[in-house]
Amino acid sequence: MRQISNHLPTAELQALDAAHHMHPFTANGALADKGVRVITRASGVHLTDSEGNEILDAMAGLWCVNIGYGREELAEVAARQMRELPYYNTFFQTTHVPAIALAARIAELAPGDLNHVFFASSGSEANDTNIRMVRRYWELMGKPEKTVFISRKNAYHGSSMGSASLGGMAAMHAQGGLPIPGIVHIDQPNWYAEGGEMSPEEFGRARARQLEDKIAELGEDRVAAFIAEPVQGAGGVIIPPESYWPEIQRICDAHEILLIADEVICGFGRTGNWFGSQTLNIRPDIMTIAKGLSSGYAPIGGSVVSDAVAEVIGRGEFTHGYTYSGHPVAAAVALENLRILEDEKIIEHVRDVAAPHLAKVWAGLADHPLVGEARSLGLLASIALTPDKATRARFASDPGTIGTICRDRCFANNLVMRHVGDRMVIAPPLIITPEQIDEVVRRARRALDEAQERIEAEGLMRAA
Ligand SMILES: *Cc1c(COP(=O)(O)O)cnc(C)c1O
Repeated sequence: MRQISNHLPTAELQALDAAHHMHPFTANGALADKGVRVITRASGVHLTDSEGNEILDAMAGLWCVNIGYGREELAEVAARQMRELPYYNTFFQTTHVPAIALAARIAELAPGDLNHVFFASSGSEANDTNIRMVRRYWELMGKPEKTVFISRKNAYHGSSMGSASLGGMAAMHAQGGLPIPGIVHIDQPNWYAEGGEMSPEEFGRARARQLEDKIAELGEDRVAAFIAEPVQGAGGVIIPPESYWPEIQRICDAHEILLIADEVICGFGRTGNWFGSQTLNIRPDIMTIAKGLSSGYAPIGGSVVSDAVAEVIGRGEFTHGYTYSGHPVAAAVALENLRILEDEKIIEHVRDVAAPHLAKVWAGLADHPLVGEARSLGLLASIALTPDKATRARFASDPGTIGTICRDRCFANNLVMRHVGDRMVIAPPLIITPEQIDEVVRRARRALDEAQERIEAEGLMRAA
């Protein structure tokens, strides 16, 4: 039965969407033929679509709805702030209470001496800020030749010219003339796909040492910073071997370069601490934040900057900023989100309840014939699909073919689990209960069974 509601029938919405709406990271022609799914409402960890289906959202939107959907408090705060002061800028020697309060709160939560926040409206913008801020820092330090950023292949740092250049996504670099000059990439610590015969720990150290080799090759006097996600998210939830980050930290300490931790996914509780840097024992000079900062209820991000870097940047005018830097409504919403994360002990829930439970039941998926590894850290989890567990082989089909089949079977089972190539990933809202985690895993297993049937029927169960 069609829902009684104030919007148009699904087919009409789909036709209008196809006619006028260009979707990000989408082949819009093919989507128009297939028909887009229209999400109409959400509550807790569940979405509802225009056909009335209830879908378990194990991706928290796009890794961002940390406190879950439907929290009235955020709506109230946004309405109140819009009435009181909907907008004012922070450029011309002015400020407002939401920006002050949010910056101060982030400084309290952030580790070490990360006490200063430069606001943006997204992670991409924040990483563009980082490129300009770090180069400006070295210029003010009297070392203007230190301009080169070292990043990693298969990293995701955003989609603007600068941030997509920092990222290491080959498919993105193939379009639009990326990367911009002054950004180089080393290999990722993806043991499952690239570790060969090495043990994970040997491999982790070897991959970290590429940073030292790259610094030597370029000359330390030219390198400005290294940027990385504590755990790669969009690259497929690649949890690095335990040896990786200590070695990276050692190298950053031994050389005069800045370390930027892109916490856009790992921040605000995802790994069981406020920041992934705390979970993985990283001491960054700058952290990129967005997504979970507002649980996606309003677009806001930023760069959290150390005392030392902020002091240097403050010596002159930094000719950079966004109209919406520190937007009062977004800042007020983010502040309320942080209050809920703290008051409701949601991060403790991740650390003590949800993550240990997920770790246990997720690992059980490794016995499925299609699954080569099933790992999690906090509420980030992934599985690698393989036609041959023993050799960790890739499928002979184009990368992503098998992942897409599996993703479609997830959708058919009302589960949002994403595919990255032939890896499957989840990052559910942090409020997810153990019972709901069991339901995620039940649906995932059913989807894997159905995918396996399809893959075998189509003769795709072949190693590359
Ligand atoms: C999503 C993401 C970004 C980009 O954030 P946007 O808000 O989409 O611009 C940057 N870094 C990481 C690690 C991300 O996951």
